[in-house]
Amino acid sequence: MTVIYNRVALIGLGLIASSMFWAMKRAGVAGEVTGYARSPETRATAREIGLCDTICDTAVEACKDADLVVLCVPVGAMGAVAAEIAPVLKAGAVVSDVGSVKRAVIEAVAPHLPDGVHFVPAHPLAGTEQSGPTSGFAELFDNRWCLLTPEAVDKTAVADLRAFWEALGAKVDEMEVEHHDLVLAVTSHTPHLIAYTMVGVADDLGRVTDSEVVNFSAAGFRDFTRIAASDPTMWRDVFLNNKEATLEILGRFTEELFALQRAIRQGDGDHLHDYFTRTRAIRRGIIEAGQDTDAPNFGRTKQT
Ligand code: NAP
Repeated sequence: MTVIYNRVALIGLGLIASSMFWAMKRAGVAGEVTGYARSPETRATAREIGLCDTICDTAVEACKDADLVVLCVPVGAMGAVAAEIAPVLKAGAVVSDVGSVKRAVIEAVAPHLPDGVHFVPAHPLAGTEQSGPTSGFAELFDNRWCLLTPEAVDKTAVADLRAFWEALGAKVDEMEVEHHDLVLAVTSHTPHLIAYTMVGVADDLGRVTDSEVVNFSAAGFRDFTRIAASDPTMWRDVFLNNKEATLEILGRFTEELFALQRAIRQGDGDHLHDYFTRTRAIRRGIIEAGQDTDAPNFGRTKQT
């Protein structure tokens, strides 16, 4: 594989940045990779496990001479980081991010970037419920989508970033910014909110810590708990920064929930059966698109 960027800087060293580093090493698409995280603990861990070629003590140091800078911090922190590194960005450099929300990140980051720096926002649709520098792995992006949402930016900068993400294993597409935020509100943000709510409801019942609820939890609830274990800071920022689209989808969700509630109350089995038949087909579509396994219970072998 040929090197696309001689020097890449990763700002924020959590799940996504660490996975990017291991995937870059696997692909050989980056000459040197520098990294920075705000806490000395994360920087020490990164040095210990060999994450990045050089771990710097400031974001500014990490970004000096970088051809690609990727902001891998929570959405709400992107603007402050961009303001900090802006003075040392070199002309012709590409700045990108991996934030789960795009319009708010563009509004926070773009005003700080000097002329001659190309901003190509990106969002890899890949993750786990784990976080931090030790949680990453090279295969995270394999066969997953990475969406680019460039607006009036140099075409070569976009083409290079596309080739970079493809080398990391992802399938790449471009999407209009508002459309991205709406699609993700449907496929990711609202489902997370529902999982947080369901686990919160169970906790409110005061039984979750009782062994009966933990031991007898069915697969559905266990899957909710996995999603609801996702990083609180990241998800707080997602909802605060994708308000409009999330509230729109949440409104629709509530209407559907009321309809199902009424069907249950009225004993309308046909309504329930038709509804569940429709949703089952969506699961089949996801499997046919290669975005999940068709093995029972997601391929988990242990049944507890
Ligand atoms: P993570 O594992 O929690 O790591 C976050 C990193 O950001 C850490 O290095 C942390 O530094 C740093 N950070 C946190 N708050 C900060 C602040 N206020 N200022 C500066 N740095 C800060 O997070 P992640 O899962 O890699 O997520 C990073 C980004 O990727 C987010 O924007 C998220 O929306 C996006 N994303 C996540 C997923 C997912 O499933 N996890 C998927 C796609 C995109 P310390 O370690 O020093 O605290």
